[in-house]
Amino acid sequence: MTHIMSNAVSPLERLPLDVRDRLLTSLSSFESLRAAVLSCKALYEAYSLRKHSVFNAVVENESGPALLEALAVSRAITDLEEHGKEDEIIDLVADRDGPLWRSEVSVEDAYEVGDIAQVASELEDLFSFRYKDRTKTTSALSYSESCVFRRALYQNWFLSLLCRASSLDDNDVDDDEEIDNGIDEATSSSFVQVISDLDDKSLSAFYQVLLFLDELYARTYPRQSYNATSGMIVMSATSSRLRHFSPLKIIGDFKEQTYHPNFDFYTRASEALATGLDNLLSKRKVNEVFEGKYKKQAVLDGVSNGYAGQCHKCHKATAWLYNDTCWSDLSEHIPVQLLTRVLPGRLSYNQSACNLLNPYVQAPDFYHRFMEDAFASLNDPASSWLKDEWVCGDCVVHFIKQELFSWFVRQLIHDGHAFKANCWYGFDCRTQRHNPVHAEKLNHLCEPDPSKTDGN
Ligand SMILES: [Zn+2]
Ligand SMILES: [Zn+2]
Repeated sequence: MTHIMSNAVSPLERLPLDVRDRLLTSLSSFESLRAAVLSCKALYEAYSLRKHSVFNAVVENESGPALLEALAVSRAITDLEEHGKEDEIIDLVADRDGPLWRSEVSVEDAYEVGDIAQVASELEDLFSFRYKDRTKTTSALSYSESCVFRRALYQNWFLSLLCRASSLDDNDVDDDEEIDNGIDEATSSSFVQVISDLDDKSLSAFYQVLLFLDELYARTYPRQSYNATSGMIVMSATSSRLRHFSPLKIIGDFKEQTYHPNFDFYTRASEALATGLDNLLSKRKVNEVFEGKYKKQAVLDGVSNGYAGQCHKCHKATAWLYNDTCWSDLSEHIPVQLLTRVLPGRLSYNQSACNLLNPYVQAPDFYHRFMEDAFASLNDPASSWLKDEWVCGDCVVHFIKQELFSWFVRQLIHDGHAFKANCWYGFDCRTQRHNPVHAEKLNHLCEPDPSKTDGN
């Protein structure tokens, strides 16, 4: 039998006000607070009685630690993108008593800060996974570690925003004289004012997060290339001249493994900022302090040497390790676009062979399927490693190089590919490089046949 309760008081209304208040303050986003308050009278009533404290609590839940810095970043972005304040941005960021740094949160702030915090939270998850706990894909940082990480992240974010400052542009116009491209020290140091009064520990944390962002930047296609001689992936490091990439752009490109060229903000200001940052880092000996005093770890407590582990195969110390819990992440070390390069012989120059391989490697979740298949078909598993052991990117590339070709041929056979007659020279054939008709007409996905090509 069902009880019809249409005339009864709603269960929520029977809860004491304090409980309803507690319920609201525990909501994780401003969006859900809005939905809750609109959905029921009991919650609406609780909210209207304690609007201010509930609102602030939920904004804090949403933005996570370092709310003040998150607010300042999000307001600076609004000032640049909606109010065109490029000429004031340096002063606005530096003015701790000014409008960017006010602690009072408006409804508009609440919406905007959520987006900023989302980026910070994704970066924190990634940082935590790489540097603290590889068993969790969401952050395992303590509250205080998270505070340090986020504050340092927002400081990096400010620097990318300051590259949009237009205050230097007017000085460029100098009638008769040649334009003096030098940027004086006072100007360049004004760009890094927001971090110049940090103590050694905070500056080291800022620096560690800067290095972390650089790692993500370098691990984004097409900044990696394959060196056929060494058999290793080469990553191009960030130039200190390029500080105009915001954390939002860095994580976006990293997740998609694509690069959207964006030099809009590379201006005189970027140059001034890079100079100011170089000067500050060297004057305060930040690299030495970070490596010497803090042993490369200024964000986390109790993690020594800044590393979360070492490669099971080559014993190299690195945080960028892989096993069967995260094969899909391999694209951050070797983008699938580079895989034709690891094929044997001269196959990477054979366009028809590459065209056959590409759909396989570009299919969703390629790395997971490939690694699992390759492990399952290993003839001598003892010669390799167990798939749950953590290995570095270089060792995985070596493994891929060894296994990709035979995996590819197995897939083609499985999919009923109609192989042409074999070229005698197989994957070593020179003609396939420059003669597309020949490359297409014969099969080169095979070993050279010494009986036919003896002595050649
Ligand atoms: Zn290794
Ligand atoms: Zn050939």
